[in-house]
Amino acid sequence: MPIYHTAQAGMVARLVFWGRSRIMAERVVPVAELDGYVGKNISAICSLGYTSEAPHHNHCAHFVSHLLNLHFGHKCAKHGFSIRVDEVFNRCRYRGDWKNQPKIIIENLIFATQSTNMGHDGKMMDGPNKHMGIWTDTFVYNYSTMNHQVLKETVPDFLTRLNGVYNPDGNNPVKLFYGYELPV
Ligand SMILES: [Zn+2]
Repeated sequence: MPIYHTAQAGMVARLVFWGRSRIMAERVVPVAELDGYVGKNISAICSLGYTSEAPHHNHCAHFVSHLLNLHFGHKCAKHGFSIRVDEVFNRCRYRGDWKNQPKIIIENLIFATQSTNMGHDGKMMDGPNKHMGIWTDTFVYNYSTMNHQVLKETVPDFLTRLNGVYNPDGNNPVKLFYGYELPV
């Protein structure tokens, strides 16, 4: 991840991608594989027993980490997968505002939180309102703990839903961010 789609950029992008593979960046997840997770509960994704959906649990980063083999920071088990959105975002070698995402990218990580949860250094803090998923040019695949399943949403629908949860009063809007190139 990421992958690219312009014919002109194809050759260079492929070299860049394989270059990343050599330094152990995260894999690109095929769309068919992502589609296979839609509607699934975390119990079908994590075989390590970290499947509680009590209110203080949140499986969005956990879902992505199982797919991308992320094993840093807080994990679902001793030798398990990463579970914290801020820890994943802050380890992305490249990250920033969603609107500044390089245009040639067609699969990437998408993050959502409020400006009040972002530090001046561009890092995400560990406030409660944060979410993430895998974006594939059209859809965001993300685990919604409230809905107990993987959702497939357009970016506008994803943002509207999260604003409804995090920003019901409309005075602290949710912002989107991109990130890629993680240690695996
Ligand atoms: Zn797990």
